Amino acid sequence: MSVPPLTPPASGRGIKVEAGASLAAFIWFRTGGPAKTLVRPDTAHDLAAYLRDLDPSTPVLPVGVGSNLIVRDGGVPGVVVRLPKAMAKVTVQDGRVRAGAGAMGISVASAARDAGIAGLEFLRGIPGTVGGAVRMNAGAYGRDVSDILVEATVVTRDGSVETWSAEKLGFTYRHSDLPAGAVVVEAVFSGTPGEPAVIGAEMDRIAAEREASQPLRSRTGGSTFKNPEGHKAWALIDAAGCRGLTRGDAQVSEKHCNFLLNLGSASSAEIEALGEEVRDRVKAHSGVTLEWEIQRVGEYLPSRLREGSGEGGLDTGISHQPLPRPLPQAGGEQ
Ligand SMILES: Cc1cc2nc3c(=O)[nH]c(=O)nc-3n(C[C@H](O)[C@H](O)[C@H](O)COP(=O)(O)OP(=O)(O)OC[C@H]3O[C@@H](n4cnc5c(N)ncnc54)[C@H](O)[C@@H]3O)c2cc1C
Repeated sequence: MSVPPLTPPASGRGIKVEAGASLAAFIWFRTGGPAKTLVRPDTAHDLAAYLRDLDPSTPVLPVGVGSNLIVRDGGVPGVVVRLPKAMAKVTVQDGRVRAGAGAMGISVASAARDAGIAGLEFLRGIPGTVGGAVRMNAGAYGRDVSDILVEATVVTRDGSVETWSAEKLGFTYRHSDLPAGAVVVEAVFSGTPGEPAVIGAEMDRIAAEREASQPLRSRTGGSTFKNPEGHKAWALIDAAGCRGLTRGDAQVSEKHCNFLLNLGSASSAEIEALGEEVRDRVKAHSGVTLEWEIQRVGEYLPSRLREGSGEGGLDTGISHQPLPRPLPQAGGEQ
């Protein structure tokens, strides 16, 4: 028997629409410009109805908690979709976990542990939502979403609600074939039977290891670059002398040099330009071209000069106000 869907049947048009909403208020880096339009649907069907009526030329960008995102300083044109708490429920039935795409990885891992389902522990260490994890094929410790995903419910850009198999999602390393503008609203995961105490101990081990090796309490975007075939990105970055490198208030983390940090008042342009500088230095030192894992979205501020390296924009020293909210605690609910 399958887990009953969390998505209620189509109701009225329940959707909050806000013009010029801040994304820096919740994106992990705490930088970047606003969304031209931010929408928060009550249900998948409300989202589908909204997208059906939206001009097909308007770009749509789903966001989770921005733990793998640089939002450029000029903001995001079109529509940004953020799922509400109501779309973050997690239920378990018959050895499968069904999660709203707004749920955090830790909630999914914890529900699986409580139900004695092993194999989802790695989600404990990924401080993003289910939607972001499916889109990014997030993973750690030799496992990723493609190993546990049964199916995902997707609202397409033209407003249909569809069930996509893992095969259809075309997962490869930190990649899915989800088309631009498609929003994951639910996912079903499976694992293998396990002892809750053993699963819990593994989750604790993961949490402790993360605490020791990653700058979890910093304004960061997680791993900046994908590990190139046969290499570790951090080792290439270290060997190229980039550990601790700064540009304005952006820094290559001393603790884990595949992480970039906003030390306080960095702009997104500074963070991105620092990333491009790291790519140049690694290419010059080892001949390897690093590929961005962090998703870079939105527009550069027109007032900022463009620098010749890659797509990076050069910051011209515009200072940012102190960030509005306390930092998220990695692994916790955000
Ligand atoms: C401290 C730290 C540690 C991390 N460790 C890991 C790790 O071990 N392994 C790993 O893989 N990642 C890791 N990350 C990166 C990040 O947590 C994952 O990529 C996560 O899956 C992103 O989820 P999010 O909700 O924050 O997505 P966002 O950063 O908001 O978005 C990322 C991408 O997903 C898309 N997206 C978001 N929600 C949806 C949705 N509902 N439907 C469709 N697309 C959507 C966005 O458009 C964007 O392209 C880490 C990040 C941090 C800050």
